[in-house]
Amino acid sequence: MKGSIEVIAGGMFSGKTEELLRRVRREVYAGKFVQLFKHALDDRYAVEHVVTHDQTALPCIPVQSSNDILTHMREETRVVGVDEANFFDEGLVDVVQALADRGLKVLLAGLDMDFRRVPFGPMPSLLAIADDVTKIRAVCITCGEMANYSYRCDGSDDVVHVGSTDAYEARCRSCYHMGTRICAVPPERRPSLTTSTSS
Ligand code: ZN
Repeated sequence: MKGSIEVIAGGMFSGKTEELLRRVRREVYAGKFVQLFKHALDDRYAVEHVVTHDQTALPCIPVQSSNDILTHMREETRVVGVDEANFFDEGLVDVVQALADRGLKVLLAGLDMDFRRVPFGPMPSLLAIADDVTKIRAVCITCGEMANYSYRCDGSDDVVHVGSTDAYEARCRSCYHMGTRICAVPPERRPSLTTSTSS
């Protein structure tokens, strides 16, 4: 089997994890032995299960580092899924390359940029070494255009913000620059930035 690397990149609320799980389920359906990993920001993170087409539960293994993926690898594994790839160390790039060189298919999903619009963790390198890249976008909460950015409304500046996603909004380029002053305004009362054409 020929190995490969597929990366699904996008902002928050863009559906990256759903797309990853869709691809994972397809591999399970094709009879491949799949292992799914997710970054554990802290060790309280519980194992979650992804329900596959035949109602079998595929465990999503929380790991703290890229090396932990290698530690958990099983002989029969043909496909590896990695969610929240942006939170991993740079070592993930070598791990992924090594797995693909061994003939495995590696599917990754992650945030391409943090809330400052800075490329996130190992994502730029993963995008570079990928055989296939899918960049998906969310919908801007303010104007409804395609949104590339995850805007942070709570004023905090930690890049890794453990906890709820409530502080984030999907915003397009124009609305990103409206800053925090529209954070408290409900989406339906925000100024529409959609260019009005003759109607
Ligand atoms: Zn917008």
